[in-house]
Amino acid sequence: MELVVGLIEPGADEHIRLRPVLFGFVVPCVTMKHLYIHIPFCHRRCAYCDFNTYANMEDRIEAYVQALCSELRMLAAEPPPPAPISPEAAALPPTIFFGGGTPTMLALDQFERVLNAAHALVPLEGAEISSEANPGTVLGRDYLRGLRSLGVNRLSMGVQSLHDPTLRILGRIHTADEAYRSYVEAREAGFANINLDFIFGLPGQELAQWEATLNAVTAWGVDHFALYSLILEESTPLYAQVTSGRMQVPDDEATGAMYEAALGHFAAAGYMQYEISNWAYEQAEGSRQQAEVRFPQFACRHNIAYWLNSDYLAAGAGAHGHVFPRRYYDILGIDEYIRAVNEGRRPVAETTPLTPADLAAETMMMGMRLNIGVGEAHFAARCGRPLDEVYGEAISELVDQGLVERVAGRVRLTPRGRMFGNRVFARFL
Ligand code: SF4
Repeated sequence: MELVVGLIEPGADEHIRLRPVLFGFVVPCVTMKHLYIHIPFCHRRCAYCDFNTYANMEDRIEAYVQALCSELRMLAAEPPPPAPISPEAAALPPTIFFGGGTPTMLALDQFERVLNAAHALVPLEGAEISSEANPGTVLGRDYLRGLRSLGVNRLSMGVQSLHDPTLRILGRIHTADEAYRSYVEAREAGFANINLDFIFGLPGQELAQWEATLNAVTAWGVDHFALYSLILEESTPLYAQVTSGRMQVPDDEATGAMYEAALGHFAAAGYMQYEISNWAYEQAEGSRQQAEVRFPQFACRHNIAYWLNSDYLAAGAGAHGHVFPRRYYDILGIDEYIRAVNEGRRPVAETTPLTPADLAAETMMMGMRLNIGVGEAHFAARCGRPLDEVYGEAISELVDQGLVERVAGRVRLTPRGRMFGNRVFARFL
């Protein structure tokens, strides 16, 4: 890769500053504009969860928030240098994502302090600011209005199921009715962009029950859905229950049928699938058809930054960041994390160097999850080499197998490729 010139672009986006030349193309460079913030507190651990989150540690929240603000200030004091970026990635707004854990366990003033500290890293104006929310902990309209007035403009609620016995098995702290009430309260508080997460392939779940769930939630008028197939993680109570035979989960065929049911259901209800697990509502049929090379209005821009393999910073216990040529994650334990920051150290647990080959493989594996696939121009800008020079042979093989197709300068999965995504992803490793 040869970066020949760097010019200051007057009037360009404040965060797009340099325009080096690459293969004869002008490629913008960008300073950091995506930030993940981890809030590792939950009221109770769910039976299937292996995220870095802790129950019964509410007494640490204030000390954690102070440490988190300090870490954000440390990151702001040493910003990474501007990096080449594709036009697709450059078109994304700044994004901040509060994940967990349960970010809505923070008091409003704590949220505000974290946002103020984050502002030194990522501009809040025009930013997509998302927060995950457990419907069992959302504290009513006043809390939600407060969150909205702080600038949080996207809420992602983990509903997971509308079947109360299943919610109890999962260890969720809310019922289906409470999830619905939280959703309505979020709407009333002014959230115009709400995602709901659901899991399929749950213990005892049958296709008819899943279809009833899809019918019910579509009627709520939700902007965005993320659907995940249950993954049994070894460290979880649910894994032990299933492997000991005390609980049954649907087999792969039944789970595949649930996914296919969701595909048909959301398409008929006016939702555009833009990633393997994500759908966003698109009002006009025409715009959905044209939307093949753009993202729907309610698509999550923060996650798109991940799928475009963009760089992003991360802060908080166990948070993972990616700033090529390295990725890192922070210390997992809450007390250890707080101690490290209070001693003036960056609370990084481990840093992994990344090679250009890693960058190319990740750009393909992440990008192929998107319905629009990977653009040749995007790949060249991000990875510094033409797509065909690196993966031409692999792509030709996959095209011959009917798993991927080339459309208008892009490579994307075919419908058959979606069923065998892992075979495709493995070819880019
Ligand atoms: S609420 Fe979410 S993060 Fe917390 S334990 Fe449950 S699944 Fe895990």
